[in-house]
Amino acid sequence: MLLVEDDATIGRSLEQALRAEGYQVTLAADGTSARRAFEHSVPDLVVLDLGLPDVDGLDLCRELRASAPAISILVLTARQEEVDVVVGLDAGANDYVTKPFRLAELLARVRAHLRRSDVHAPSHCLVAGDLEIDVDARRAFAGGRELALRPREFDLLALLASEAGRAVTRERIMDECWDEHWYGSTKTLDVHISQLRAKLANGAGPERPTISVLRRVGYRLDAP
Ligand code: CA
Repeated sequence: MLLVEDDATIGRSLEQALRAEGYQVTLAADGTSARRAFEHSVPDLVVLDLGLPDVDGLDLCRELRASAPAISILVLTARQEEVDVVVGLDAGANDYVTKPFRLAELLARVRAHLRRSDVHAPSHCLVAGDLEIDVDARRAFAGGRELALRPREFDLLALLASEAGRAVTRERIMDECWDEHWYGSTKTLDVHISQLRAKLANGAGPERPTISVLRRVGYRLDAP
């Protein structure tokens, strides 16, 4: 795989961690050496930091995608910049990890993507209307477009979709999507649901599922 990261500390430690997992890794510290490495040998996966010194990471992403449609591209973006994420996915990235990230999370994503490209193993999928959720890869598509979901939004959507047409109680959601011992307000659930509804409604056609609010009970995902 090709790892493009200009921060030497992050780059080296990631390279080490990925090698320890048995991957062959080429580390490129800027866009120019990334292009060179890519031309030399097309990798099955590119881990691409979007903030590079010499090129626009998104341009590079588009370029790599155009020359190798089948590879997986995992972009690293600065934290909280949701715009980056959406634009990154538009630029052809398959997935993103926000910085700072936990190594375990990044390795899990890498594994998931390589598994997909390697063996096309059937993964656990949920379908409701024009919504498709690949549970193993933690990716959701609505009308063929990948949704940029935060981890908890993904968990919520996957749970509601697995019970499509049936009410899911707030208690069950808090149990399954939040930490076991959550003593805070469940207001946070409503906030996540409203963000998720907005993302689902974006560009919705007649086949798009909706999330209904059941007062004092919970939520239900309805597919047309
Ligand atoms: Ca950077």
